[in-house]
Amino acid sequence: MSSVLSLARPDILELQPYQHAAWDPSLERLHANEMPWRAQGDNTAAGLNRYPEPQPKSLVERMARLYDVPTSRVLVGRGSDEAIDLLVRAFCRAGTDSVVICPPTFGFYKVAARVQGAQVVEVPLLREGFSLDAPRVVEAGLSAKIVFLCSPNNPTGNLLDEPAMLGICRELARTSLVCVDEAYIEFAGRASLARRLAEFPNLVLLRTLSKAYALAGARLGTLLASEEIVGLLKRIIPPYAIPASTVEDVLTLTEAPQRAMAGARIQTILAERERVRHRLEAAPTVVQVFRSDANFLLVECRDARKFLEAGKSTGLLVRDFSSAPGLANCLRITIGTPDQNDRLLGAVERP
Ligand code: PMP
Repeated sequence: MSSVLSLARPDILELQPYQHAAWDPSLERLHANEMPWRAQGDNTAAGLNRYPEPQPKSLVERMARLYDVPTSRVLVGRGSDEAIDLLVRAFCRAGTDSVVICPPTFGFYKVAARVQGAQVVEVPLLREGFSLDAPRVVEAGLSAKIVFLCSPNNPTGNLLDEPAMLGICRELARTSLVCVDEAYIEFAGRASLARRLAEFPNLVLLRTLSKAYALAGARLGTLLASEEIVGLLKRIIPPYAIPASTVEDVLTLTEAPQRAMAGARIQTILAERERVRHRLEAAPTVVQVFRSDANFLLVECRDARKFLEAGKSTGLLVRDFSSAPGLANCLRITIGTPDQNDRLLGAVERP
């Protein structure tokens, strides 16, 4: 067994996976207890009366091309949220194992770990630039199964240092997975760590179509990792995880014209982000705006409640992080259309 698989739960390694109905489109299906007719008005290509292909080949190939990795390194799921859940289920024994997170960070790592009964060890980002406290992450990681790093980080917005992340991978090569969540990497102007996967068998990456590709409602996330990890997670992902309509939508909406449009919109978001940043930095209601490599800004306000109310008064909701440790009076503002951004600025530029 590869050393990375030896980190998995022994009972998962031994589990007999669910045997879903065989996928053989050349034969007519009388083996899956489906109805032989479509529902009235079902205009999908596949027919929603049929269970979809588990890990649809065409979708896996599309994501492999999009993220520039071999198909053997790809697992598709319902958002990267599902990938986070699968990782903690496969690697953490309830009541025994732990994960490391670096707060302030994306909240679902902790929730997924707690649902699985895993401990959560927190190694906060350093106050200076919300950067990684790499020595402490390594120290905690040595007795944990998974280290979750988020780069660019949500809600702070900054990229994490690449040599620091790879150094952590190297130090933890025998003891833990390092899961780098790249949900916002398309906004960051830095290449994905996908090109380093072959060097680091314990490196796992998360990508999503929910942000830069404007497909949050389709729920399609992709885990990139070693073939062994992908193979293990395929054994525990719920049967027929990806809805047929998602497969069809994603295949249509990630064609070349849509990818070109996504690229152009990313540029618009980046220009707007800098415009909004400059205006907020000058606003009397704002203390500071943190550096962002994503499609949102973390803002420290003079009075977060008043800022929130000002946004609501113009019909806009921003996210309140003021009760998160270390983020007193901080709000996270997603960059919207120029018109939405102008409305928000108009409302919060008044003292
Ligand atoms: N990771 C991060 C850092 C996120 O911010 C989010 C969603 N807000 C996710 C993962 C989950 O994304 P998905 O829609 O792919 O489940």
